Amino acid sequence: MKIVCIGAGNAAQVLSLQLAKAGIDVSVYEKNSYENLSYDWHDDINPAAWKEYGLPAPTNEPFHKGNWSFLPPNEKSMTKLALPEEKLDFSTERRLFAQQYVDLGKEAGVDYHLGTPVTSLYFEKGKVTGIKVGEEIIKADLVVDNSGALSPFRASLPESYKITKKPFKSEIFDAYRSFNKIKEGMSPDPVHTNKAYLKHLGNDGISWSIADPSGTINILIGRQGKLTDEAYQEAYEALKKSNPYISDEVVRGGYKCIIPIRYPLSRMVGDGYVAIGDAAFMTIPMIGSGIENSMKAGAELAHVIIKKQSVKKEDLWDFQVRYYMKRGANHIGVDILKRWLLSADPADVDWLLNKKVVSAKNMADAATGHLIILSFPELLEKVARGFTRLNLLLPMALMLNSTLKAAKIGKQIPKKYDDAEIDKWTKKIEKLIYGKDKKKKKKDK
Ligand SMILES: Cc1cc2nc3c(=O)[nH]c(=O)nc-3n(C[C@H](O)[C@H](O)[C@H](O)COP(=O)(O)OP(=O)(O)OC[C@H]3O[C@@H](n4cnc5c(N)ncnc54)[C@H](O)[C@@H]3O)c2cc1C
Repeated sequence: MKIVCIGAGNAAQVLSLQLAKAGIDVSVYEKNSYENLSYDWHDDINPAAWKEYGLPAPTNEPFHKGNWSFLPPNEKSMTKLALPEEKLDFSTERRLFAQQYVDLGKEAGVDYHLGTPVTSLYFEKGKVTGIKVGEEIIKADLVVDNSGALSPFRASLPESYKITKKPFKSEIFDAYRSFNKIKEGMSPDPVHTNKAYLKHLGNDGISWSIADPSGTINILIGRQGKLTDEAYQEAYEALKKSNPYISDEVVRGGYKCIIPIRYPLSRMVGDGYVAIGDAAFMTIPMIGSGIENSMKAGAELAHVIIKKQSVKKEDLWDFQVRYYMKRGANHIGVDILKRWLLSADPADVDWLLNKKVVSAKNMADAATGHLIILSFPELLEKVARGFTRLNLLLPMALMLNSTLKAAKIGKQIPKKYDDAEIDKWTKKIEKLIYGKDKKKKKKDK
């Protein structure tokens, strides 16, 4: 059995390590060199990413981050989360973490080809049977697509695979990231260290300013669809105004990248092919965190392949079932919540946060990929806080109800590979997510 991965992302790093340890022939083709792997900055990862499957922890001394404070568009309130220390994410150096896994993989026998971009999938009789690197054909029993949200490989699959080729524009976050020096003689806000601006300036997206313990300000300005130069400049100036300690000196990053913000693919597997990580939209739709999910998915795919000693789509389907049962199903619900929030009137978001109708606990649930489940007393409390705006509370309650329904449908994923049943299940999800807008949405491609 020969397995080939496109991209050495978090998912393929874990998957290939586990497969090689089990004696399976696995190669990884990554376009970047060892020195340029992943990103030059640090990001937040929940320690469950490595703890749940007994994977190696980062050796580059991860540090705890603070709790998020969420600001509505008018910035008149700050909802600070109160996650306990043990639930906070670690921040870890991404390049060092990626290099650590590549080193471990090589030791275990993974055949890494760094600095080697894959050109295309290779097909025989309409089925994926390998990859092409330039003119060279590399045959494989399974190609694992870990090349990111806009994978050209996924987009090149025949229609018969029924795998979504491209996300809608609105399902992608176009984000600028930089780490700026703190202005000399100034210090950041000691209480609200991690500020996230919801619908920043009333736009469809978020911005953040995080004073990190390494003495820089971690800035992200992300917009649904496309972040134009004007929108970036306007948001950057506004962030500096609200956080006057941000200097213009960029010490890391300083460029744009993309993050998927939608529910996972409803079909991840096909003949000779499986998508994983961002290529299967495995981020938390609300905030775009995907490292933990990608690592766990890598461990789960390895588990299924090792257990079944097979890469047939009927066997790999079990990987998708496991993914949906553990987190994918909830992410359909979180996606509904995110769509509602991004399309909401900025004044409504102001009101919901300023009046604390949306609480710190609600924000914490959504940001960590969980559903907002309201107990009866909580519901009553919200009505008491928001009785002057029942016209807003009612649609919000209906939306929250449909997030629960979505997660329930997600968990009804056919447990065995059955093409017709998978089609039916997919249609149900699409109806909930896109509703009557599906046709209109098609123009958004
Ligand atoms: C600015 C920013 C901030 C983020 N912050 C966080 C955070 O704090 N916490 C969090 O959990 N997540 C965060 N994410 C999301 C996170 O980066 C991704 O979800 C995660 O890295 C996905 O991993 P993956 O396994 O899909 O691989 P990816 O990281 O998507 O890696 C894909 C790999 O494929 C390679 N590749 C692409 N095309 C080819 C080709 N043709 N041939 C060979 N190789 C190819 C790429 O070079 C890359 O190495 C952030 C993302 C961005 C952009």
